[in-house]
Amino acid sequence: MRNPDTILEVDDLRVYYATPQGDVKACDGVSFDVRAGEILGLVGESGSGKSTATGGVLRTISSPGRIVSGRVVLDSDDILEYNDEQMRRLRWSKLALIPQGAMNSLNPTMTISAQIADVIETHEGRQDEDALRERILELFRRVGLPGRIYSMYPHELSGGMKQRACIAMSIALDPILIVADEATSALDVVVQRVVAQTMLKIKRELNVSFIMIGHDMGLMAQVVDRLAVMYSGQLLEIAGVEDMFESPAHPYSEILIDSVPTLTERKSMRINEGITHDPRNPPSGCIFRLRCPFAMAACAETRPPMVEVRPDQLVACHLWKKTEDGSYVRQSV
Ligand code: SF4
Repeated sequence: MRNPDTILEVDDLRVYYATPQGDVKACDGVSFDVRAGEILGLVGESGSGKSTATGGVLRTISSPGRIVSGRVVLDSDDILEYNDEQMRRLRWSKLALIPQGAMNSLNPTMTISAQIADVIETHEGRQDEDALRERILELFRRVGLPGRIYSMYPHELSGGMKQRACIAMSIALDPILIVADEATSALDVVVQRVVAQTMLKIKRELNVSFIMIGHDMGLMAQVVDRLAVMYSGQLLEIAGVEDMFESPAHPYSEILIDSVPTLTERKSMRINEGITHDPRNPPSGCIFRLRCPFAMAACAETRPPMVEVRPDQLVACHLWKKTEDGSYVRQSV
């Protein structure tokens, strides 16, 4: 059932990349929602389709990739139906992106404030100079940047400051959703936390929602409200972050969470890194079965559907069976 707070609904999204040997299904029937004022974490190893799925949402997929089918409903409109001009107006204003390596994508020949002014004036037309300056300084305050950087160029800022400048730019037009693609990955651990805390502050103050793409489960645990786990182009589980960490329902989520090190224990991954599949020729049935310690005969036959096994915890795995009273129990194998 649709959550009344849903602002983005992604339904059965498929994004394929053409290769001479056939299509790679980089995002293969992915469905999830984002709710008002939440941070949804999207995790999975490299190549799991996290950035492709959000690229489908943002309509930034370029050839040889293509959006094959699905719906992306933002604030009641299916934006996959939008033309280029509608998408241009939507970007920054309702839907903003902090791209991978965002701090390196800043224009080195323009001051930070001129780049933010450019975003504002492109969408809203020419602004009063004093009002525009005050608006930009307010954006800096929101992300914890000092006003003295107003006339500075990107190379004069540290990595963390540049990343916060990108967050300031992303909120310049009051979007309802920001996609942060590995926004903290290139930063050192301390600065990662500062940038993540900045996103939390923005979320609380502006009630803006985030999709935060990453692979650092420890950082995700501290920042996100819900967590979605992807593997090889498919969504395997989505749940509130506490439920996910306390009772993961999918074997792959269990393995990811189990591999997060603690102060007293070094841990290694419980799955064999080498056993995977050719993305152009995925296995039948469950996409994870070649690496799953619980794989059964049924796992090779049909792709497991996404089912709600606990309140607001959805998983795609044949281990979960529906009982007569409609609840789900996990089989032991
Ligand atoms: Fe493992 Fe089967 Fe569940 Fe896939 S469906 S995760 S192979 S038990």
